[in-house]
Formats: sequence, C-alpha cells, structure tokens
Amino acid sequence: MAKRTIENIDVADKTVLMRLDLNVPLDDGGGITDDRRIRLALPSVESVLRRQGRLIVMSHLGRPRGEAEDSKFSLGPVAKRLEELIDQPVLFSRDVVGKDAQSKVRELKTGMILLLENLRFHPGEQKGETSFSQALAEMADVYCNDAFGTCHREDASMVGVPRAMGDKPKVVGFLVAKEIQYLADVISAPQRPFMAILGGAKVSDKISVIKNLLNICDKILIGGAMAYTFSLARGGRVGQSLVEPDKVDLAKELIDTGGESLVLPLDTHCGDDFSPSCNKQVVGAGEIPEGFQGLDIGPATAKRYTTLLQSAGTIVWNGPMGVFEMPPFDAGTKTVAQAIANVDAVSIIGGGDSAAAIEQFGFTDHVTHVSTGGGASLAMLEGRSFPAVELLDDT
Ligand code: AMP
Repeated sequence: MAKRTIENIDVADKTVLMRLDLNVPLDDGGGITDDRRIRLALPSVESVLRRQGRLIVMSHLGRPRGEAEDSKFSLGPVAKRLEELIDQPVLFSRDVVGKDAQSKVRELKTGMILLLENLRFHPGEQKGETSFSQALAEMADVYCNDAFGTCHREDASMVGVPRAMGDKPKVVGFLVAKEIQYLADVISAPQRPFMAILGGAKVSDKISVIKNLLNICDKILIGGAMAYTFSLARGGRVGQSLVEPDKVDLAKELIDTGGESLVLPLDTHCGDDFSPSCNKQVVGAGEIPEGFQGLDIGPATAKRYTTLLQSAGTIVWNGPMGVFEMPPFDAGTKTVAQAIANVDAVSIIGGGDSAAAIEQFGFTDHVTHVSTGGGASLAMLEGRSFPAVELLDDT
C-alpha cells in the first residue's frame, strides 16, 4: 500500500493543503495540556516550509456543536504553540473557507504557513459536503494527509478534498506513511511467528480485530476483561467481573475457529471491590468466586505469555491485560509490556490505552512502532480499507 509522500513532491512555490490531527487536549482556560500531536506533525510541516512551499494547514479540534462557532474549540491556541515550535509566524484565519481564509490565502508567500480555523466550525466538514471540499481544494496545488487519527473517517477534509483535487498531487505526510508501513504493510507480510496480544474492557470492541487477526496471526493472546466473556463461553465462573453476556455465543464461535491459535488466560488476579485496597486473590481462570471480580491476568498467565512472546518475529498489541491504571492490577500489563520490550521482534503497539501503558512503564523506546491513532489503528487491524488513504497517489 505504498503511497507517494510529501518529500517526493517538489513544493517550491506551490501551495500545499495539509490535513493534520491537531486535536490537542485543552484545560478550562484554553491552555494546551499536551502538545504531542503538534510536535508529531512538525516533520511534514517543516519539510514544506524548508523547501519554500506555501503551507495551508487544516485540522479539527474537539466536538463543537451545531453550526455556531464555539470559541472554546478555536484553533487559535494551537496556532500560537505552532509558532513557538517552528520559530516563525503562523497566519491564522478566523474562518475555514470564508472571507478571512480567502484573504489570508492571498497573503501567503513562499516559506509561509497559514492555519485555518477549526474545520468542524463549518457544517460541511462532517457531512462530507462537496461544495465545501471544492472550496478547500481550490486553495492549493498539492494535498497532503498527515492526520492518521482521522484516517478511518470520511469527513470532507479527509475524502472530499482529495477527490476534489482531481489530477493534482495527493500525498501522505511522514506520520501517515509510517503508520501504513507498520499497521498495513508489516502485518500483511509479517516475520513469523506473528503474535497478537489483545486486551481491554470489551470483547465487542475487538471482534472484527480478532476475526481478522485469526486469519493472519500464529497466536492471539487474550487478556483484560474481555477474557471473562470467553470464560463464560467455556462454562467458567466469573463472579462480579465485567462481562458481556450477549457476546457469549460469539466468544464460543471464536474459540472454535481459533483452536490452538487463540490463547486464553490460565489464572486471574481478582478483588472483592474495584479499588486498590480491596481483598485480593489469585484463582484459576473461570474460578472467580462470588463477590470477587477479575481485575488482571494472574502470574501464571503473565509467565506463559512472556514465554510465548520470546519466540515471536512480529508482535501487535492492543488493549491492557488488566486495570493498569490501578496498582497492583497493573502487574500483568507491565509484565507483557516488558516481554515485548525485551524480545527482538518487530513490535507494533496500537494507539490509545496500550500506547499509554507502554509510555507509563517507560518502554516506548524499546518497541518498533507506537501508533498515534486509537480508533484508526484498531480499524486498520480489522483489515478495513480507508478511502482517505486509498484516494491518495501510489508510489
Ligand atoms: P479498551 O478501551 O477496550 O482498550 O479498554 C481499556 C480499559 O479496560 C482500561 O481502562 C482498563 O482499566 C480496562 N480493563 C482492563 N481489564 C479490566 C478488567 N479486568 N476489569 C475492568 N476493566 C478492565
């Protein structure tokens, strides 16, 4: 799925319209609490500016309601932060395709950058409106998508704009190129054995991922609360654990299809309350007593998963093994994270909670790739195709 990247385009004296994911968390006063997403976008931004392109950046921020602009979701603070990070002025337009945006686009000279106001302030963005897409596309000579976190969506800026660009170049930025390389290309031709570790709260969120990965993985190791729905399917006792009774038949089906490839926990660390100070005990899988709930995989499971992972050629991990935010129930997730960090395999960490866990335990530098998109990385592991990526030029 190799796509043409921004560095393969001569951008000098051309206008590049770049979709980024600058959806940063803000505090009540509008201050940015974590600027990671802005920093991750810098290589693509700087590549255009350094080569004397004119750069127009667009992004969404939060979920502004209705058509009325909601100033707490303005990208204004992002423009200021970006200015500090790239150490040059960032023009900012008070609308997306309106008068102010049009006049700022005209002001833009080579080597300069303009950030458009929040795409979601325009009703056409989430409706995927053609006229809105057209208005954006007309601003530029080149379209660049470096917004991996939004690649599974079909908003105007993701799908309508590249369509409206016609024959003009449509490329990926550095971030999206790297995500495709690991989440699509490596997974379609993995070094074997290929092992996936899937955890998290609900089996229902990961059904399509399990089904897709069962076709391509040698082993899928299951953890998290979703393991208890599998326990129910095997006739086990789950006490007060988080389960999805309406997914038990499906879990049975996955156990039958998966055979030996689907590896379930051997034991469970459980507690009599959802709290760090609860009474705790380790029991065999499917033997959780009344009044107790499973909160982590047990030590025998952690040991077994560590041993299995030692021989892996490729590892994909999505979802924690237990309530990793609440010690001591972080132990299973930590052991698995450590095992992934220790093994000499291609290791790919899905976004969201697994990325947070690997960071919390300090292993980020010991894995091959940590995805920046939660929903998008899950959708890629489901084997879904993304129009937002497919529409872009191949190499
Ligand atoms: P997900 O978003 O589906 O990846 O789920 C992540 C969440 O699942 C984390 O907040 C974990 O605390 C939670 N989780 C994992 N294992 C358990 C468990 N055994 N019981 C309750 N919550 C769990």
